[in-house]
Amino acid sequence: MKVLDLRCAHEHAFEGWFSGEEDFQDQLRRGLLQCPVCGAAQVRKVLSAPRINRGAAAAAEPAAAAVEGVSDTPAPGRSAPGVPVPLQAALLQWARQAMAQSEDVGERFAQEARSIHRGDSPERPIRGQASAAETLELLQEGIPVLALPPSATDTLH
Ligand SMILES: [Zn+2]
Repeated sequence: MKVLDLRCAHEHAFEGWFSGEEDFQDQLRRGLLQCPVCGAAQVRKVLSAPRINRGAAAAAEPAAAAVEGVSDTPAPGRSAPGVPVPLQAALLQWARQAMAQSEDVGERFAQEARSIHRGDSPERPIRGQASAAETLELLQEGIPVLALPPSATDTLH
């Protein structure tokens, strides 16, 4: 997995996840990359500093991590103070964390989510697969679930 800092023709900064450089070039060529803010397909990669909250680097640079706060991408100008990180980037970051911390219940997702909601199963973050109809039912029952596009969850595996 490779997380690239991207920028559109209007200087909106966002993140893209790719299996590698070729994947990025391929998606770019096929016009699959779009700015989440304005939808522009003219997207370019910007150089980013090494990411600081991964593996050993996180332990080695606690001070830098604290300074960067919630953003783990210290690219200058990416998010000026007071300007919110683009929603997509925030969502993906959240998803990445949720995936790492949740239990994969696979096909039993809807069943397990109800179980937890009723208090039959221990309260814990779970992830898994549910159809659109199941997801809608859960929401109607007042059970908070977040549906991610398949492309987003694929890259998280
Ligand atoms: Zn844009």
